[in-house]
Amino acid sequence: MEKVLLVRYAEIHLKGLNRPFFERLLVDRIKQALMPVRASVEREQGRIFVYGIPEENIPECTDRLCRVFGIHSLSIAQCVDKSWEAIRDAAIAETKTFAESAPVPTFKCFARRSDKRFPMTSEEICRELGHELLEAYPNLRVDVHHPVLPVTVEIRQSNAFVYTGEVPGAGGMPVGSNGKAMLLISGGIDSPVAGYMIAKRGVMLDAVHFYSYPYTSERARDKVIELTKLVSRYAGRINLYLVPFTEIQMTIYDKCPSTETTVLMRRLMMKIAERIAADTGSLALITGESIGQVASQTIESLCVTDDAVHMPVFRPLIGFDKEEIIEKAQKIGTFETSILPYEDCCTVFVPKHPVTKPKVDKLRESEALVDFEPMIEKAIAETERMDIC
Ligand code: ATP
Ligand code: MG
Repeated sequence: MEKVLLVRYAEIHLKGLNRPFFERLLVDRIKQALMPVRASVEREQGRIFVYGIPEENIPECTDRLCRVFGIHSLSIAQCVDKSWEAIRDAAIAETKTFAESAPVPTFKCFARRSDKRFPMTSEEICRELGHELLEAYPNLRVDVHHPVLPVTVEIRQSNAFVYTGEVPGAGGMPVGSNGKAMLLISGGIDSPVAGYMIAKRGVMLDAVHFYSYPYTSERARDKVIELTKLVSRYAGRINLYLVPFTEIQMTIYDKCPSTETTVLMRRLMMKIAERIAADTGSLALITGESIGQVASQTIESLCVTDDAVHMPVFRPLIGFDKEEIIEKAQKIGTFETSILPYEDCCTVFVPKHPVTKPKVDKLRESEALVDFEPMIEKAIAETERMDIC
């Protein structure tokens, strides 16, 4: 008897003619996620099966697959011959611990027979298996409405599979099924969550971070690298672009109206991010902004920021409260790193009285006080790329 992982996928069923493409992509993503264990991944009739995982690695592999977008749920199954005896023995073995220790030992059998050559119908399998389990473990009880333990048998072309229960997957669509976008990542709580949410829709991510040595430290940079790594556990490989921003930032503080510095900084970040994105195949920018969270995120400020670029800007957190974002960050495992103390270049020089209702024309004028073009080109030329995975 071998333990295999049985993977269910949902949304890609909806994609009609694209379905084979999505399925192949999902198989690739599963293989990448399981790279260290060299499992074999096979597709069969609306399911994906992962064979050849050493038993001690099953929990780790399950954990890894729970972060692969496009997976609806998965089960750890016994893979057996398509004989009644093998199926029965596997079900008895799978149920043993539960029967011996569950405070409410209720179960129900489910069967799915996609190989119609198998001599028993689904109903017969359920009925017979129910009898066998009750005989093996007299303390078990059948509960057809709310069983604690579902015992499922699937008869497929290749093999039969027996499992008890399922683990929810990450949902969404396989990364790479919906193009690429550039995440503006700071060291805060929001932007990693924003990246996660867009990657979940099948979008491959690149990321860009602006730092201001010596006003921001090496530690702040390491933190962003670590956060990008945490996002890449879901999003796969990410190119992280680290852009030196000190000269532009200092010039803004020197030469532009002090109430507008934050919004101007944001416009320049967007411009640089857009250029790197265009050169590297990203079709949109992603930020962690939400309406009204800070002065630079009022609707007026967001309009002024958008005015700096032509690319669409995706803001998946736009309607979220901070508590909701924090909850999500905790769930995906970025929160603890995000709250480590650090300096962000946005927070180093916060104006005392930032404009909350900036006007596009006025901001364009302020920006035109300085010729930023050579500084933008220099920052891009000095940008460092890191391959995060
Ligand atoms: P976060 O938790 O993401 O830092 P925040 O509430 O602190 O969000 P701001 O600092 O105003 O928000 O930044 C808004 C968004 O701008 C961030 O979510 C991020 O997408 C982008 N951003 C801010 N600072 C940087 C930076 N240094 N490098 C790249 N992107 C940045
Ligand atoms: Mg921030």
